[in-house]
Amino acid sequence: MKAGIVGLPNVGKSTLFNCLSNAKAQSANFPFCTIEPNIGVVNVPDPRLEKLEELVQPERVQPATVDIVDIAGLVKGASKGEGLGNQFLGNIRECNAIIHVLRCFDNDNIVHVDGSVNPIRDKETIDIELQLKDLETVEKRLEKVKKAAKTGNKEAQVEEGLLNRIREALLAAKSARTVVPQTNDEEVLMEGFQLITAKPVLYVCNVDEGAAATGNAYVDQVRELVKDENAEVIVLAVGTEADITELETYEERKMFLEDLGLKEPGSSVLIRAAYKLLNQQTYFTAGVKEVRAWTINIGDTAPKAAGVIHTDFEKGFIRAEVIAYDDYVNFGSEAKVKEAGKLRVEGKEYIVKDGDVMHFRFNV
Ligand code: GDP
Repeated sequence: MKAGIVGLPNVGKSTLFNCLSNAKAQSANFPFCTIEPNIGVVNVPDPRLEKLEELVQPERVQPATVDIVDIAGLVKGASKGEGLGNQFLGNIRECNAIIHVLRCFDNDNIVHVDGSVNPIRDKETIDIELQLKDLETVEKRLEKVKKAAKTGNKEAQVEEGLLNRIREALLAAKSARTVVPQTNDEEVLMEGFQLITAKPVLYVCNVDEGAAATGNAYVDQVRELVKDENAEVIVLAVGTEADITELETYEERKMFLEDLGLKEPGSSVLIRAAYKLLNQQTYFTAGVKEVRAWTINIGDTAPKAAGVIHTDFEKGFIRAEVIAYDDYVNFGSEAKVKEAGKLRVEGKEYIVKDGDVMHFRFNV
C-alpha cells in the first residue's frame, strides 16, 4: 500500500518527500526537477511504541512504515500527454491513496507555473487532469460492455449503469469518489476500474513558517472548497519542516517546533493521516528481543494479522493471545496483565483492534 504525493510543479512536493523520507531527491526551483517517481519507506510515528519500549526494554524497536511516492510532472494537459503526462498518470494509478499538495505560501522568488498563488485554481487544474484521464478509462470500458449489455447480459448491464453514473460525475467536473457504489457488485466493479479520482485523498496546504500553527487565508479557502469532500486538510510549513529535520538533536528540533507553536512536526501528523487514509492500522508484538508495530488493514482477522509476520502463522493459526494496549500500559507488563486476568484468548474470527498486543499460537 502506498500514498502518492501530487500537485503542480513548485508547490513543495519534493521538499515534502525529502522531509518525510530523508531521501536525497533533488529539490530545485524548476518544474520537472524530479523525473523518476521516488518511493520512500517512511516510519509511522507512534507514541504507543515508545511507551511499550519503555516498559519492555527490548533490544530493538521496529515502527510501522508507510510507502510514500513522490510523483512529479503533473501539469495542465497531462491527460493529453503534456509534460510527463502519461507516465505520471500511470504512477498515480499504482498508488492506493493521494496526498495532494497545494501551495499556500507567497514567495516571488519561487516561480508559480500559472503566474500567481491560487490554491483553488491549482486544485482544479489537477482535478481536471485526473478526471479527464478517468473519463478516458470509463469511456473505453463503456465501449466494451455496451454490446454485452444490449444482448441482455445482466453483469454487463450493472457495469454499464455504474459506468454511466461515473461518466456523468466526471463530465460535471466531479471526481469518481463522489459516486457511491450501491451494491456489493458495484463496489467490486468500482475497485476493478482503478480510477484515479476514486482513490482516497487528503490535502496538504504548504504554508510559510508563520502560518504553521494557525493557517492563513489560502488555507481557509481550501477548507471551504473541500468541506463536502470528507477529506482531511493538513497545514504544513514544508520548507520549515525540512529545515527542522536537518537539526542534529531532538532538543533542538523540539525547541524549533515550540517556536512555531507546534507540539510535534506536522509531517508526523501527515504520516499518520496517510496511514489511516490507506485504511491501515497497527498491532504490536512486544518481546525482549523486539518490540514491533505491524501493519494490517482495518477489519483484518487474527489469522490475517498473523500472516503479516509469516504466512505459516496464518496457515497454521490456532489462536491468538491478546492484550489491549491500555491494559498493557496500565498493568505495566505481560505477567501482570495475566495475573489480573486481562489476557484474552481469541480465535480465527477475532477482528484485531488497533493497538492490540498479540502472541500467536500456530501449528507448523
Ligand atoms: P515540487 O516541484 O512541487 O517538487 O517543488 P519543490 O519541493 O522542488 O519546491 C520548489 C521550491 O519551493 C524550492 O525552492 C523549495 O525550497 C521551495 N519551497 C518548498 N516549500 C516551501 C515553503 O513552504 N515555503 C517557501 N517559502 N518555499 C518553499
